Amino acid sequence: MPESLYDTLGVKKGASADEIKKAYRKLARQYHPDTNQGDKAAEERFKQVQTAYDVLSDDEKRKAYDRFGSTNGRGAPGPGPGGVNVDFGDLGDLGDIFGNIFGNVRGGGRRARPQPVRGADVETEVRLSFEDSLRGAEAKVPVELTVACSQCGGTGAEPGTAPVICPECNGRGVVSESQGLFALSQPCPRCRGNGTVIEKPCSKCHGSGRERRRRTFTVKIKPGVKDGTQIRLKGKGEVGQHGGPSGDLIVVTRVESSPTYERRGDDLIVQVPVSFPTAALGGKVEVPTPEGVVSLKIPAGSEDGKLLRIKGRGAPKLAGKGKGDVLARVRIQVPKRVNKKERELLEELQKAVG
Ligand SMILES: [Zn+2]
Ligand SMILES: [Zn+2]
Repeated sequence: MPESLYDTLGVKKGASADEIKKAYRKLARQYHPDTNQGDKAAEERFKQVQTAYDVLSDDEKRKAYDRFGSTNGRGAPGPGPGGVNVDFGDLGDLGDIFGNIFGNVRGGGRRARPQPVRGADVETEVRLSFEDSLRGAEAKVPVELTVACSQCGGTGAEPGTAPVICPECNGRGVVSESQGLFALSQPCPRCRGNGTVIEKPCSKCHGSGRERRRRTFTVKIKPGVKDGTQIRLKGKGEVGQHGGPSGDLIVVTRVESSPTYERRGDDLIVQVPVSFPTAALGGKVEVPTPEGVVSLKIPAGSEDGKLLRIKGRGAPKLAGKGKGDVLARVRIQVPKRVNKKERELLEELQKAVG
């Protein structure tokens, strides 16, 4: 979230002119380049404090800022994407009608600036072993992103300079012309509605305030994620425009399949070979689970394909607490070769069951 100019100065929105001045003096001293030589972050902060004070100490500019929520493309977010940032002022209901007819026409000669645009969401994938998907992991996720320029901090102005109030529109962002009953306003062609112009563009981003950069995020992957689980990192996507918030980074987990388990919801299915006598008479078999081998009782008369449930040994549940189950599927083993003794026993059994 970009901070508001009030946040920059650390004052409340309703702060008095005096409070604003005091806050500014304190911060200006703290971040002044003379006392922070070579400290880029302090320099950047100093500029932000200057800009904030420039707007908030001027009644007109402050009013406009309060109304439209943004100046220099880095104020508080105004209306979201698709939001309407048009004020028809005294036109009242007529505004709608004229708005529809003239489209871009704004009434009242009020300040109109480019609408804040939220940055795009970015999707990327992260590969995980089946084991890691169950126990959770920390993954480094590299992404190529458009971010605020590292040299100018997104202002587009060469460091040491700041955007200045547009001389064409005096910072209003609009120019008006009278047409009959109404004064029609258009976005100022010089500053394109920004209200400020950059006299010396940043040498790195050529004034765009943005750059492409490879960033690596460390993503905490919760135990129990599935193939295709989406992890949303708020505000880590593409940078917004005109003070709009950044988009999100969506990390999609790609989980390798396991040679042992098949995942079904939060349950894990495992095939368990059971000898014919054990299936018929009952007995015990060893079943692998993610936390070690478990001894499972096979009831007498178990048929091939029967599912036996081992509670709470499955995958951790992403929503809520606890774990799914391990489902052991009985796979009756038919002997391919039998020795003499076994043959006699089986023949006897064959006679008995018919
Ligand atoms: Zn730049
Ligand atoms: Zn202008």
